[in-house]
Amino acid sequence: MKPKLLITSLTSCNGCITSIIELEIFPEFLESVDFIFFPLIEDKDNIDNCDIALIEGCITKEEQKEEVLEIRKKAKKVIALGTCAIFGGITSLSDEIESIPINEIIEIDGFIPGCPTPTEFLGSSLMALLNGEKIKLSPKNLCSECDLRPDSGVKSKIKIDKLIPEKIPFECFLHENVLCLGPITRAGCKAKCLKANIPCEGCMGPILADFMSNMVNFFSSIEVSEDIKISEEIYSKFTHPKSFVKTV
Ligand code: SF4
Ligand code: SF4
Repeated sequence: MKPKLLITSLTSCNGCITSIIELEIFPEFLESVDFIFFPLIEDKDNIDNCDIALIEGCITKEEQKEEVLEIRKKAKKVIALGTCAIFGGITSLSDEIESIPINEIIEIDGFIPGCPTPTEFLGSSLMALLNGEKIKLSPKNLCSECDLRPDSGVKSKIKIDKLIPEKIPFECFLHENVLCLGPITRAGCKAKCLKANIPCEGCMGPILADFMSNMVNFFSSIEVSEDIKISEEIYSKFTHPKSFVKTV
């Protein structure tokens, strides 16, 4: 029997769900499951019992809390899809909206981080779920898969005074005095932003401990300009409401 699947979206940009639809394996994925609820492609009002529920986005409305509680009752496994659902995401940068990660309201059985979730990792995570396996989160930091990583490792006590690079880096952003959060961010995205000359901002979330304490430790190993130190959003652009979720 095909696994019964629910995919839904709370407050989000729909980027993570769109990534599912854009997967090369999406046609194969469609054939291997029975959707009991997937409002983006099918009009259905009722949430029935299901094997796996994937929830994208954070909670910003009372009725969304009820929706996730209902899903928790009906689903054998609930998976938080994307950084909004896991950590609160970029919605939490708003001064007007409270962004609540779903795992503040219900227990989750796993999560697929990223903003949006990286394609290859998303595809392998979905196949793992369909096979009854755990989602394989990398235990390493982003530097481990970054082509810019210097052979001798990232230098310590370098001066960081830029958030945006002035030129294409030919070596590690940190060595160009640009802040890159790769050392404290979970690998899994294949360093796509770095390949596009954008330093890591931490959307995959932390590996161990919470992002804030990792940041404090990281900043104590390098020299960071005062301007950057007081730039609030760099500390928790993606993880403001919740800065650590234990791996299940
Ligand atoms: S995690 Fe990023 S891509 Fe996914 S829904 Fe949230 S804002 Fe959009
Ligand atoms: S700090 Fe950034 S640029 Fe340097 S190796 Fe790590 S991920 Fe790559």
